[in-house]
Amino acid sequence: APAEPALRQEGAAWAAGTAVIDEFPEVGEFEQRLGRIGDSGAANPYFRVHEGNIRDTTVIGGRSLLSFGSYNYLGFSGHPAVDEAVHRAVERYGTSVSASRVLSGERELTVRLERALADFLGVDDCLTLVSGHATNVTAIGHLVGPEDLVLHDALAHDSILQGCALSGAARRPFAHNDMGRLEHMLRLNRSRFRRVLIAVEGAYSMDGDLVDLPALVELKKRYGALLLVDEAHSIGTVGEHGRGVGELYGVDRSEVDLWMGTLSKALASCGGYLAGSARTVRWLRHTLPGFVYSVGLTPANAAAALAATELLAAQPQRVRALRRNSGLFLRLATAAGLATGSSGGTPIVPCILGDSVRTLRVADRLFARGVVADPIFHPAVEEGLSRLRFFVTSEHHEDDIGRAVSILAEEVAAR
Ligand code: PMP
Repeated sequence: APAEPALRQEGAAWAAGTAVIDEFPEVGEFEQRLGRIGDSGAANPYFRVHEGNIRDTTVIGGRSLLSFGSYNYLGFSGHPAVDEAVHRAVERYGTSVSASRVLSGERELTVRLERALADFLGVDDCLTLVSGHATNVTAIGHLVGPEDLVLHDALAHDSILQGCALSGAARRPFAHNDMGRLEHMLRLNRSRFRRVLIAVEGAYSMDGDLVDLPALVELKKRYGALLLVDEAHSIGTVGEHGRGVGELYGVDRSEVDLWMGTLSKALASCGGYLAGSARTVRWLRHTLPGFVYSVGLTPANAAAALAATELLAAQPQRVRALRRNSGLFLRLATAAGLATGSSGGTPIVPCILGDSVRTLRVADRLFARGVVADPIFHPAVEEGLSRLRFFVTSEHHEDDIGRAVSILAEEVAAR
């Protein structure tokens, strides 16, 4: 029999103390962190209950507030055509497809959604999954393995990191948007691994800046690497018609091996997609664990995303309104001397305050004055770069944007 690994034997000595979750040291540390929010004098900003759909405003505790906390970028959640499509879907198909799509879970709505998304994105085919986060995890876990390397942007979303962990591939971050650094890593490592996957986002969700897609395409071709672009925040928001960073940069869609995106933001639903060549998507459809061994999208979610995709394709003026509002917010914030970092060209505008207690207090004051913007701390962003994050939508009114930025500037100056 193979020798018992040394670690396992040593582990026997400390196993007894770790058998109760409540007593994990990390649970204790977390409880302390939670307590510190109370010590700051600010109300706990987490899990606030919103009493209705959120577009430009929201209702909390019976109070109407101006909202910059939700990524309902185009106002499609709550749009009458989307609601109507969902009602019809539930009447016809019920609330669950009650099986994997491969078996008895296939419905016409989901087939139409995937066709509509593929056409909108300008690729052969597309596959949808029930969670955006799980889409990255299972896709990266499936594409690469222990013989491979993933090079990802240092600010890549947690789902990309979890996918890397699942895959067993080596993983190295490159400094945010630093193409010189990425090239250096490709040059050093390309021949040492079977496959190298570059994983990036179209628009970065904490900083609100864009990927340099043309440079990435050039590098991936030069070094024979694979490229996955997560368009969670760029689909519906970036490019003349909201078709994402491929449209923005005029990059041939086939230059990216896998386009990933979520249905939960501009598309007013819940779930993720993977889009690419017919052959790639066919393979994923029959083999991707998070798809094959998971239920299909609910009829309501498929109907909502389909209606939103159709609206998006038919109403590019909404994308223009979003771009106008985002540009206005960023201009006003910059003019007020707020630290918006590298934000630009996306509807995400951070106000970087650095210290987490100060960030919490400013968020609390904004809330008291009728503006919702979520405070973001480590580990979602680097230590010392705590911020308030504003999601701008097509539904905001110019004077509300002006009012929000003025209140923000006053509260930042006062603290
Ligand atoms: N990728 C990125 C870049 C994201 O920002 C998010 C969520 N905010 C996800 C993936 C996960 O998507 P979902 O919330 O739809 O599961």
